[in-house]
Order: sequence, then structure tokens, then C-alpha cells
Amino acid sequence: MSDDVLNNIRKIKSRIEQACISSHRSADSVKLLLATKTVPAERISMALQAGHTLIAENKIQELKEKYDALKEIPHENHFIGHLQTNKIRELLKYNVTCLQSLDRRDLAEKLHQRLLTANQQLDVLIQVNTSGEESKFGVLPEETLQLVEQVSQLTTLKIKGLMTIGLLSTDTGKVRHCFRLLSSLRQQVIAAGIPDVDMKELSMGMSGDLEIAVEEGATIVRVGTAVFGQRPTPDSYYWNESATVS
Ligand SMILES: *Cc1c(COP(=O)(O)O)cnc(C)c1O
Repeated sequence: MSDDVLNNIRKIKSRIEQACISSHRSADSVKLLLATKTVPAERISMALQAGHTLIAENKIQELKEKYDALKEIPHENHFIGHLQTNKIRELLKYNVTCLQSLDRRDLAEKLHQRLLTANQQLDVLIQVNTSGEESKFGVLPEETLQLVEQVSQLTTLKIKGLMTIGLLSTDTGKVRHCFRLLSSLRQQVIAAGIPDVDMKELSMGMSGDLEIAVEEGATIVRVGTAVFGQRPTPDSYYWNESATVS
């Protein structure tokens, strides 16, 4: 069982490498993040022990449940799910070092208040809805620059780049369009020269579309299924909670 996880990671690494070669990038310019939603801590620990230490959850509840089982193994926790403001306190409690899904001003302001009180800082990526699907979270492309400007004024939040979930489609042209859009927004942000904004990271690409993302400049690809197998829960459970947005 540990073999399949490690074999799968090996395959993913080689897919990333191939995509880097074909787009004339160095293989170490892309980090592999393991998306661990629904995956039991024992399986995650296999990956961590083998040195694949960048992981992310979508729900605070799962972060909490697996925290004790994983805390002794060195690793880095990002958060990639929709974050409700009433969960901020818990996010900070479980050592998340980067919130990749910052997508609105009120969340940023509440995070900032909490971080000030705790005398802490947090890395963030701004999540952009590049696919135009209503079910996806993320700031609209045309409002991205403004959100980056607003967040950059909050001294506890350190902007490190942008994140998106591409269109889930077999039409690779449409998928590529999402990633290209994120990349061009990054250029736009860089051109605006906003102080205290780092645009190093582009977090995009998943099990099915990571090659396209790497070709379009991804620095972090987030892979779940291709490493841990099919999930029991449909993704709509994670991505389609519009009714409960706080
Ligand atoms: C689940 C998830 C992934 C990984 O998706 P796979 O298709 O399983 O590789 C990436 N990003 C986010 C935000 C996710 O929720």
C-alpha cells in the first residue's frame, strides 16, 4: 500500500519533469503539493516519510482530525479550500503556513485582525476564478488587481502569488485558457509595482491537467487523485458550497 503511493508520486514527478523539459523549464522550478482531502493520515504519512512534505487540506475539520497523527513528521501545511471566517482561529492553530485560497476582502481583514492579536504573519495566494464557473470560488479576474492592492495593505498577510482551479474539461484549449489567464494576471500585478507583493508562485494544475499548467508557468501543482486514488466524496462537496458562504 505504501508502494502505490510512492510509485504514483514517482510517476507524477516524471510527468512534471517531462512537462518542464518540453517547456524549457528546470525541473526544480515546480513544486509538488499533495492534496490530501479524504485521505487517511496513515497514507499521508507514507508520502511525508519518503520526503514529499508539502501537503494541503480543503477543510479545517480534516486538518484537525489528522493533525496529531502527522505532527511528529516534518512537513509543510497549506490550505486550499474555501475558508469561512469563523474558522480562522482554527486555521492558525494547526500551523498552516500558506492560505492558497484567499478570495475576498472581508476574509483578509478578519485574518489580519486575528494575526495582529496573535502577533503572527501568514503567507497567502490570491485565488482567482479563471473558469467563469459559478460553482468555483475565487475573485473575478477583473477584480484581482484591486484585491491584491487591498490585501497588500494588511501587514500580517504576505502575498506570494496567485492560485486557480482550471476548468474541468476535456477541451484542453479551454483549460489552457484558464492557466494563461492566471499567468497574465500575474504579469499585470507585477507591472502595477505594488509594494510588499511577491508574485513568485503560480499554483495551478491538478492530476488531469498538470502538464498544461506547467507549460503555462505553474510553480506549484496540486495533486490528489493521481497519487492517492479516487476519492469517495464528489468534488462538488468541496467546491460548491456557495449557499454557505459567510
Ligand atoms: C482536490 C484538489 C486538488 C487535487 O485534485 P486532483 O484532481 O485529485 O488531483 C487540487 N486543488 C484543489 C483546490 C483541490 O480541492
